[in-house]
Amino acid sequence: MVELRSVRKSFGALEVLKGVDLEVGAGEVTVVLGPSGSGKSTLLRTINHLEKVDGGWVSVDGALVGYRRSGDKLYELREREVLKQRTQIGFVFQNFNLFPHLTVLENIVEAPVSALKRPRKEAVASAEALLARVGLADKADAYPKQLSGGQQQRVAIARALALEPKLLLFDEPTSALDPELVGEVLDVIKDLARRGTTMIVVTHEIGFAREVADTVVFMDDGQVIERGAPGDVLDKPQHERTRAFLSKVL
Ligand code: ATP
Ligand code: MG
Repeated sequence: MVELRSVRKSFGALEVLKGVDLEVGAGEVTVVLGPSGSGKSTLLRTINHLEKVDGGWVSVDGALVGYRRSGDKLYELREREVLKQRTQIGFVFQNFNLFPHLTVLENIVEAPVSALKRPRKEAVASAEALLARVGLADKADAYPKQLSGGQQQRVAIARALALEPKLLLFDEPTSALDPELVGEVLDVIKDLARRGTTMIVVTHEIGFAREVADTVVFMDDGQVIERGAPGDVLDKPQHERTRAFLSKVL
């Protein structure tokens, strides 16, 4: 479903991704762990082409992201085609990034109507169903600033789902939340996992990784150091760097 091969990315002289390989099967949940600055956010951003790779490639559901192959050459896709690809890859950010001037319902309806040209009535009905699913049916007419962080993040997840993405990417979805609000957001993500949503989740929530992940990936210094089942990577890490990291977060 998702495949990364030898992905490289530099910012000026700083090489942030040093040849990353990753595979995520359809319906699987991969949790990415790693210290600050190890390249986790950059990795997610290359998957929906918010960052262009300097080397290697990313494919989602059989299609190269951001490029078209012709013979053995890669050609960059036009902006319109990139935007179309991006609608199929949902992204949930640490800081929610809701549109502050739109109601909760309008936040969710906006993209299906403007990007997918869905009839508004249909988009509203589907947004209402999604709000019910994340437990916020009564907040449709509220504005983001009237909601708690946990509620805002659940709206952000509903907004991502409204485009019916093939893949959902989460970048530390709970790290901006007060501790008592973390659970309600993780519960929504767990529900998505049960429904077979393909997801890559960057998080420091080890309990969540243990419970929900099919695969845990440990990154350090722009490389995948270790990857495997949660019980292996979390309980029997093979690499010193993984052990050192886990001893700090556990
Ligand atoms: P954190 O856990 O703190 O979120 P991370 O693992 O997500 O860290 P990245 O945000 O991917 O790490 O950053 C990896 C490195 O790349 C860092 O050294 C960061 O400063 C650098 N970096 C990221 N984005 C840019 C950018 N747009 N321009 C320059 N340097 C960048
Ligand atoms: Mg990050």
